[in-house]
Amino acid sequence: MQKEVSKQFSQSKLLCPVCASKKITKYWAMHGYKLARCKNCGMVWDPFPPEDLESVYTENYFINDNPKGGYANYFQGMSINKRTFYERIKRINNRVKKKDGMLDVGSALGDSLIEAKRLGWKNLHGVELSGFAVREAVKRGLNV
Ligand SMILES: [Zn+2]
Repeated sequence: MQKEVSKQFSQSKLLCPVCASKKITKYWAMHGYKLARCKNCGMVWDPFPPEDLESVYTENYFINDNPKGGYANYFQGMSINKRTFYERIKRINNRVKKKDGMLDVGSALGDSLIEAKRLGWKNLHGVELSGFAVREAVKRGLNV
């Protein structure tokens, strides 16, 4: 299986969506999911998403008694998510002078945006494929 996945990556004509580098390697693969990593800029992404990606990220992805790649209950893990995002955004704060304008791509229910606001960021936006997650983020007053 691992050799098949490595072969799939080496034979593909993948380009990094950030820097267009062709230096792509397998980053992670499990249970049919595969992630690629750009050796040039470090971008990690799913290069072979399912055709109907939107159908994966329904409410069932966020709340599920038998999670397969999603969450058992996203809401129960929010405090951990928030702590993780808080620490990451604090590190970003150490590298930037102006905390104005942040776009979270794949913002889910908006935990990172809430933590960014708490750490002084303004002009926050999220982009999310899941209609369920967008509705929940909007309920929280976020611009997603
Ligand atoms: Zn790249």
